[in-house]
Amino acid sequence: MTESIHRPPAQEAAGYDPAAIEHKWQERWEKRGTNHTDIDAGVRPFYALMMFPYPSAEGLHVGNLFAFTGNDIYGRFQRLQGHTVFEPLGFDAFGIHSENFALKVGTHPARLIPKNIDNFRRQLKRAGLMVDWRYELSTTDPAYYKWTQWIFLALYKRGLAYKKRAAVNWCPNDKTVLANEQVIAGECERCGAKVEQRFLEQWFFRITDYAGRLLADLDWLDWSESTKLAQRNWIGRSEGAEIAFRVQDLEELAGTTTVAGGVTGEYTAQTLDIRVFTTRPDTVFGATYMVLAPEHPLVDALTTGEQREAVAAYKKAAANQDLVTRKVTKEKTGVFTGSFATNPATQQPIPIWIADYVLMEYGTGAIMAVPGHDERDFEFATAFNLPIVRVVAAKGSRDQHASPSAPFTETDGVHLVNSGQFNGLPVAEGKSRIIAWLEANGHARGFINYRLHDWCISRQRYWGPPIPIIYCDACGTVPVPEEQLPVELPFVEDFKPDDTGISPLARVESWYRVSCPQCGGAARRETDVSDTFLDSAWYFLRYPSADRDDVPFDAARTKKWLPVTSYIGGNEHAVLHLLYSRFVTMVLHDAGYLDFEEPYVRFRAHGHIIREGAKMSKTKGNVVTPDTYIEKWGADTFRTYLMFLGPYEEGGDFRDQSIAGVRRFLDRVWTSAVDATSAGMPDVTVLRKLHQTIKKVTRDVPALSYNTAIAAMMEYLNVVRTGERRVHRDEIVPLVQLLSPFAPHIAEELWEQFGHQTSIFDAGWPVFDEALAAEELITIAVQVNGKTRGTIQLVPGAGQDAALAAAMADQTIAKFVTGAPKKVIFVPGRLLNVVI
Ligand SMILES: [Zn+2]
Ligand SMILES: [Zn+2]
Repeated sequence: MTESIHRPPAQEAAGYDPAAIEHKWQERWEKRGTNHTDIDAGVRPFYALMMFPYPSAEGLHVGNLFAFTGNDIYGRFQRLQGHTVFEPLGFDAFGIHSENFALKVGTHPARLIPKNIDNFRRQLKRAGLMVDWRYELSTTDPAYYKWTQWIFLALYKRGLAYKKRAAVNWCPNDKTVLANEQVIAGECERCGAKVEQRFLEQWFFRITDYAGRLLADLDWLDWSESTKLAQRNWIGRSEGAEIAFRVQDLEELAGTTTVAGGVTGEYTAQTLDIRVFTTRPDTVFGATYMVLAPEHPLVDALTTGEQREAVAAYKKAAANQDLVTRKVTKEKTGVFTGSFATNPATQQPIPIWIADYVLMEYGTGAIMAVPGHDERDFEFATAFNLPIVRVVAAKGSRDQHASPSAPFTETDGVHLVNSGQFNGLPVAEGKSRIIAWLEANGHARGFINYRLHDWCISRQRYWGPPIPIIYCDACGTVPVPEEQLPVELPFVEDFKPDDTGISPLARVESWYRVSCPQCGGAARRETDVSDTFLDSAWYFLRYPSADRDDVPFDAARTKKWLPVTSYIGGNEHAVLHLLYSRFVTMVLHDAGYLDFEEPYVRFRAHGHIIREGAKMSKTKGNVVTPDTYIEKWGADTFRTYLMFLGPYEEGGDFRDQSIAGVRRFLDRVWTSAVDATSAGMPDVTVLRKLHQTIKKVTRDVPALSYNTAIAAMMEYLNVVRTGERRVHRDEIVPLVQLLSPFAPHIAEELWEQFGHQTSIFDAGWPVFDEALAAEELITIAVQVNGKTRGTIQLVPGAGQDAALAAAMADQTIAKFVTGAPKKVIFVPGRLLNVVI
């Protein structure tokens, strides 16, 4: 035994050979089904979901691997805690990325995608992820998109999918419609082209019906705060009001005209109110005139004799214009009706105009004009010399009483002026108080307004699931019967979009001509495909049932595995994907298919990595290719390095030089483990450090603080190997276990060498002893008036207050402290002197 203790370390240990070990274990995991999840019978299910990748032709991006490794570590850790962990992976392979790339290289996406997926799968397996590949899915698989179409129909049947001719964002470069969310500062998010407005018939999902719920649930979801904030801002709740402006001189008007009912106004012999919707009731004191759309039903009633001719001419001219021109034309035109209304806040008469910049299809077709604080109202007031009043101003601003020379639209950090009893209030508070005041006087009704728009899901492109709708002249819009799903995407050689704004499928007559499912007559398929965000809005529901063809998601499995326990992904999807999948989940919940309404209980956004201080990009040629690094250093080193280069939720800087340090760490783990002895006893100091390390890693990993966990393990190994001492097996085995989520292959190999027959991932997690993990106490002397009266024990780093408290708790010392201390001298780690 003594002989082995004195044997110099490392000499007899075979060197660490990651390539051999990693291939051995990847094969073995596959053969033994180590990564298989017992979907139906597994206990304590834990669904560790990561955002699925778009399988690009370039192969796995290091950013993908950074994200997936973080999820894999978390998943493996939960398995070691006794959970049955499900860590599936699939491919988001429909959409404009794939289609544009296919067009660029002149290959059909249907040929390209399977190759890309094969390459991705190979790379992901090589990285050692604990993925159960039996549940792989691709959104382009008819067995998958059959159910994407089923979900469209589920929404359609609930009245949540509707078609309307709408002004849409059109990218002239991609030749497709973009959702509002895909337009960044007027430019296409994808290609940067300037986005145009077009009018097209589009399918929409009524996500705005769910705005309140989507917002409210954010209060209890365990998500990254930055993600919740992004969602809150996107939903954009604001308070508004419907305000009634009473028309003056009713006697003249009463009985002269009959006015149609409806939302646009109410007319009785006693009252005539013009109602407006506004999200800025805080500016009502600044409403100096009103504007009605020329088509507003009250216009004729309001027009006085001398204005009749001018109003009629203006109405005629406006009717000949299209809506886009009316919306975008800068030059403001309009005509006074001759009538006045009373501003309910100021009680002043304000003139009523008609102008084409107010559209009948928005709100009530009438507005209160606040030229001091609205761009278009300001232009109009300037053109027609109408009064402009400032009612919102920065605190202490000198021009707060002057007539402003430009509209002031700030709402943050500013307050109300020229607003009677509301002067001095911040805008938000002023708004609530003014709404309440107008309500109390019967002039208004508060309402909640959202910035969120309905989700436009039509795409006039080829590479997506066809929208399952048929148009029949006799029956109208007919949903494709469920038993006829999927509506397969036909293989079309020429799928290039053109400028017409019509889907390429509209050129395939043999495909779109069908007989009507209701009457059997000649009918026509919808030729738009759906937005790729619909594919990804429900994929998490599909994974546990990916092997089932008869249902989109099996009820029992869904109950067992969902909602998703932990979701990890990029914050670039904070708004769109997360919001859409929450919405679809809520709808399926309301339809009785799910017993939960939030899909992801916990969501964490991972950070992004840069390289040598610069953003990675193909043009700069500085992209890290995982294959090259894994070949050179091994997957375990690469994984551990990715997690070591910065806080997972922030990301970090990838530096080639630094990988070597992580590799040296694994080399030393290997040598220490292979060479460890079981003779004698482990060192007490090392054991203390071990328990502290277990405690730290056990806390850091679930907090995704991977870099600090790795640092703690490295520090521990330094203590273990202090003075090149021979390592005791009990000192190194737990380290191998702690390391296993990060570097699974080396951990499995060493575990086997320690004599175990089964996977290290079925062996549980090392437990720390709180007492053993406690810091060693240090002893310091205590003096009273300069005379040593005893000693106390403190944890290292304890401060004066803790030292004094410890001294006073010790009776042998405290009895000398006969009065209130006048002065306390504390020398950390050495001395406490109490002067009385
Ligand atoms: Zn574009
Ligand atoms: Zn029909």
